[in-house]
Amino acid sequence: MALPRGKGDAEQRARAHNRRRGSAEAGDNLTAEEKTTVARFLDIAVDSLRDNYRSGERAYQFSDDIPPGESAAAAPIAAEESAAAAPTAEAAPVKDSLEQIAAGVHSCTACPLGETRNNAVPGEGAGRPLVMVIGEGPGADEDAAGRPFVGRAGQLLDKMLHSIGLSRDTNCFIANVVKCRPPENRDPLPEERAACLAFLKRQIRILRPKYILCAGRIAAQTLLETEAPIGKLRGQFAELRVADMAVPLLATYHPSALLRNEDLKRPAWEDLKMLRAAITEDPAGGES
Ligand code: SF4
Repeated sequence: MALPRGKGDAEQRARAHNRRRGSAEAGDNLTAEEKTTVARFLDIAVDSLRDNYRSGERAYQFSDDIPPGESAAAAPIAAEESAAAAPTAEAAPVKDSLEQIAAGVHSCTACPLGETRNNAVPGEGAGRPLVMVIGEGPGADEDAAGRPFVGRAGQLLDKMLHSIGLSRDTNCFIANVVKCRPPENRDPLPEERAACLAFLKRQIRILRPKYILCAGRIAAQTLLETEAPIGKLRGQFAELRVADMAVPLLATYHPSALLRNEDLKRPAWEDLKMLRAAITEDPAGGES
């Protein structure tokens, strides 16, 4: 997908220029991984000097394949200038975006769920969320609408979020582990979850939520890489590491489980209060 050109491109080019100059002065012996680390640090520094706005993780295109004797700075120069001059669908994006992810989801056939869906469901909500809510996958209503959590369980989720001052309209982003509906609402298979997980991680990198709320067993088990039951995972914060982030993650019961079993409502409410308390006590937690 072509990237819009404008002030952001100018800033990217300025960053590229600064990185090139710095690289030449610092020496040409850095590996691609080291250069990526330096570039990421410089981007964070520029963002924080500008207005403390972190504009998301960028894709860097350094290569170790530099013939001996040539400047190692040449590879990033060529890659970035070429992306800036001719941003085509084939070119690797310099900066990822939710729109690019959604486009990728809508055209994805990386697992069999892509053949049976009516609509893929990338996710929706605030662009700078305080909380990212992650479920397991779309159901029939979501598959029909192309939106997450819109059926009875979704309505209950909205009420649960509202009870602690959260909303997908203002401070939450809602997504699922798999973006296409498993037939008959079965659990998504491990290979389907694995195939889809990169989309979710890209969303987390861009959104940079302050907290993650896992709705249900599948989401919690997938993100925490465990087979432990939801009864053991809920009620305590874990930490999800994605890129340079360590996001506090709280698991609770899926709203559809609450609709089936009234007894789960009380522990789910305890989980929500725990999340609310963490947000309230966090000096920066209430600001997205
Ligand atoms: S579930 Fe995910 S990996 Fe599978 S087809 Fe849909 S978008 Fe692609």
